Amino acid sequence: MIESETAVRRQLSNTYRYLHDHGLTEQASGNISARCNDHILISPGGAGGPDICADAFVRIDLEGQVKCGGTPSSEILMHLAIYRAKSEAMAVVHTHSSACVGLACCRKPIPGFHYLIGSFGGVDIPCADYACFGSRALADNVVDSLENRYACLLANHGAIAWGRSLDQAVLFAHRIEILAEQYLAACQAGEPVLLTLAEFRDYWRTAKTLKYG
Ligand SMILES: [Zn+2]
Repeated sequence: MIESETAVRRQLSNTYRYLHDHGLTEQASGNISARCNDHILISPGGAGGPDICADAFVRIDLEGQVKCGGTPSSEILMHLAIYRAKSEAMAVVHTHSSACVGLACCRKPIPGFHYLIGSFGGVDIPCADYACFGSRALADNVVDSLENRYACLLANHGAIAWGRSLDQAVLFAHRIEILAEQYLAACQAGEPVLLTLAEFRDYWRTAKTLKYG
């Protein structure tokens, strides 16, 4: 199916504003991208949320060559690595959302304290090893941590999520922040009780039946 680049650009600029308005990408700290036919549209370097326009997104090929537009996000390698590793990935959302950063700075995964952790594909949300922003090493670490997962934390940095649609990538990017906040709240209340693998299997069965989550 040939997608309209104009429509994808509009979705991306609306998404960028959504992420900013929900406090997930303050001070131009995040970046997003989506597949569009044989190319990727990615946010430009240093773009601010409220004032981004559809034309600002940069069209690149899967090798990272700019085909239309200015300078792509500095995290271009991380985005491209996910598209190359997952043919089903249609969009990637990277944020520095606060609760995720808090846990990522302790290099802690988010354990299976809540059943919605299972919606990310496993019994926890891992934390990718640290490497400098924009580096090939960080891109490799992220791909390793995203095996069988829709999102992960990035040590001393933030979080990243992908989806089979832009809406799904945004849902996971927002949900991981909500779960990180709730996990921190649970830790303040006491010691969170983690769900067992059998309980997650029950969740996955039920979610599949009900098309939930
Ligand atoms: Zn970042």
